[in-house]
Amino acid sequence: MATEKTDVVIVGAGAVGGILAAELGKAGMKVIALERGPRLATKDFAPQDELRYFQRQDLRPDVKRQPVTWRPNANTRSSVIQSLSYGNQAGGGTVHYGAVSWRFHEDDFRVRSNTIAHYGASAIPEDSSVIDWPLSYAELEPFYDRAEYDLGVSGKAGNLQGRKIEGGNVLESPRKRDYPLPPLQVDQAGSNFEAATKKLGYHPFSTPRAILSQPYKGRPGCSYCGACQGFGCHIGAKSSILVTALPEADKTGNFKLITGAMTYRVNSDNSGKVTGVSYFGPDGSRDNTIEAEIVVIAPFVYDCVRLLMLSKTEKYPNGLANSSGHLGKHVMSHIGARAFAAFDDRHVNIYMGPSAQKHTIDDFNADNFDHKDLGFIRGAQISAGPAGLEGGPIATAMNMVMPQGVPRWGAGFRDFFSKYYTRHVALTGQTEELPYAAQMIDLDPDVKDAFGLPAPRMTYDWRRPNEVKRMEFVNQKLLEIGRSMGAAHVWRAPSSPGAPGSHHQGGVRMGSNPRESVVNKYGQTWDIPNLFVIGSSNFPTSAGFNPTLTIQALTYMTADAIVNRYRKSPGPLV
Ligand SMILES: Cc1cc2nc3c(=O)[nH]c(=O)nc-3n(C[C@H](O)[C@H](O)[C@H](O)COP(=O)(O)OP(=O)(O)OC[C@H]3O[C@@H](n4cnc5c(N)ncnc54)[C@H](O)[C@@H]3O)c2cc1C
Repeated sequence: MATEKTDVVIVGAGAVGGILAAELGKAGMKVIALERGPRLATKDFAPQDELRYFQRQDLRPDVKRQPVTWRPNANTRSSVIQSLSYGNQAGGGTVHYGAVSWRFHEDDFRVRSNTIAHYGASAIPEDSSVIDWPLSYAELEPFYDRAEYDLGVSGKAGNLQGRKIEGGNVLESPRKRDYPLPPLQVDQAGSNFEAATKKLGYHPFSTPRAILSQPYKGRPGCSYCGACQGFGCHIGAKSSILVTALPEADKTGNFKLITGAMTYRVNSDNSGKVTGVSYFGPDGSRDNTIEAEIVVIAPFVYDCVRLLMLSKTEKYPNGLANSSGHLGKHVMSHIGARAFAAFDDRHVNIYMGPSAQKHTIDDFNADNFDHKDLGFIRGAQISAGPAGLEGGPIATAMNMVMPQGVPRWGAGFRDFFSKYYTRHVALTGQTEELPYAAQMIDLDPDVKDAFGLPAPRMTYDWRRPNEVKRMEFVNQKLLEIGRSMGAAHVWRAPSSPGAPGSHHQGGVRMGSNPRESVVNKYGQTWDIPNLFVIGSSNFPTSAGFNPTLTIQALTYMTADAIVNRYRKSPGPLV
C-alpha cells in the first residue's frame, strides 16, 4: 500500500495524459500519471514483426485481461469484442495508430444548428440526440496549430486565412499558417486516386499525418517501411506521445509516471470535491492512493465511463459527475464503407510505405455537399490506400475481400489473388455517425476483467435509417471513383456488422449546460470542478475525420485554462 500527494493526478498516459503532463509540468505543477501498461521505447519496435503487431495486435489490450463487451441492443446478451484495438501502454493509442491528423471543419462543431438552418429540424432523425459543441472552430484553431507544431504533422494547407490553395484541402476551415512539414511522398494508389477524382470534378489532396516527412525536432523523417498502423515506429518518425510529449514532461522535473498502475476508483468526499484516485500497483497491491488537488481522467472512452461508474458513492449514486444522467450515453463510432478496385494494366504495390501517402477527398464529408432530397445528413471522407491499413504485405493480403463470384479458397481464389494482389486498391469512406442516447456504455453485469472489475459494456448498432442511407450513398461514390480510376474490377466489401472499432466517441459529452452534458468545453465536470475528463468521450458529434488531433487540441486548450485560470481561482471554468 502506498499513498502519495501531488498537484495533479492523471489516469492514462496516452494522447491526452502525455500532453497534459508536459504542459502542466512546464508551468511548475507537480504531476503524477498512472498508466496500466508499460513504457516502451523506439528500440523496442524493431524488428517489425507483422504476425506479432498486426495480426496478433500485440500493442492492444489483452482481451482476456481487459475485456470490453458489446451487444447490438438492450435485448441481446453481450459478448467480448475480440478485435478491439486501443491504447494499452504509455503513449496510448498513438504508439500504434495510423497517425491521420485532421482538424474538424467549422461546420462539425455546429451540426445541430447548421442542419436546422439548411434543411429544417425534420432533417435530424427523431431519435438522434445531436447537440452543438460548446465551442467553435475559431476558438480551437490556435490549439490545433499548437498540436501540429509541437508534435509534428505533415500536410499541405488548403485554406490559409481564407485563401484557397490547390493541392491542399480547399474545403478545410481557415488556418493561420501551413503545416510545419510538407506532405509525405505520393504513392501509386494516391496518384491514381488523384487523377480519377479530379476527372470527376472533386478536390483530392494528400492526407495530413502525424508522421515526419523530414527530420524535425531531432527525429528522422519517415523511411516508408510500411509497418506503421498496428506497429510502434522503429525510428521514431511517427509523432506518437511516446517520442513527443512524454520526453517533454520528463524534462520538466515535475512529472512522475507510474506504469503497471490500474486505476479502479476516483475518490470523493462529501464537500463536492474529488480527493484523488486508488489503483492496483504493478505488484498487484490494491490499496494504493494518490491524493491530488486536481484529478484528470484520460484513459480513453471505455475506461472514462467505467471509472466514473465504479466511483459511485451515496452522494453520487448513479456514478461520479452524473447528475445529468448523460454519463455513458451518446456513444458514436466511425462506420467504414469499403470498395476495391483492381487493375489489369498496372501494379500499385500498395503494401509499400505507410498509407501516410494516401490521398483523400473531402467533397462528400460533413455538409460539404447538398443533402436536400438525399434522405440523410452528414457524410464521409473518402480515401484510397492499402486494404490492410499499413499492416504490411500479410495484412494487405488478408484484408483483400474477394469480389462476388470468386471463391474464397482453391484454384479460383489463387488465380484471382495472385494476379491482383499487387494491382488492387482499397477505397474507404470513413463515415460520420450521429449520436443516439441509446448507444451507450455501462458496466457489464456478467463479465469481469483480470482485477475483478466489471467490464465496460457497449450497447451499439449503427444500422439506423439515416446512417444506412448515408453508407449506401458513400458506397456508390467509392464504386464511381474505382471506375473512374480505370479499374478492370470494382466491387464493394460487406458493411461492418455494427460492432465497435477504435474511434469511439461520446459517453462523457461536453455541452453548454449541465442539463444536456457531463462536462463543459474544458472537460471539467459540471458536478465536481476539480474533476476533469478529457478525450473523444467529450465529443458531442463525431465528424467524418479521425479524432486524435481534435483530442490533442482540446487538451492543449484545457492545459492553458488550468494553468492560467483554474490554478489562480479554482472553480468552474467559464
Ligand atoms: C490501430 C489504431 C489506429 C488508429 N489510427 C488513428 C488515426 O490514424 N488517426 C486518429 O486520429 N486516431 C487514430 N486512432 C485513435 C487514437 O489512437 C485515439 O484517438 C487516441 O489515442 C486517444 O487518446 P486518449 O489519450 O484519449 O487515449 P489513449 O491514447 O488510448 O490513452 C489512454 C491510456 O490510458 C491507459 N488506461 C486505460 N485505463 C486505465 C486505467 N484504469 N488505469 C490506468 N491507465 C489506464 C491506457 O493503457 C492508455 O495508455 C487509432 C487507434 C488505433 C488503436
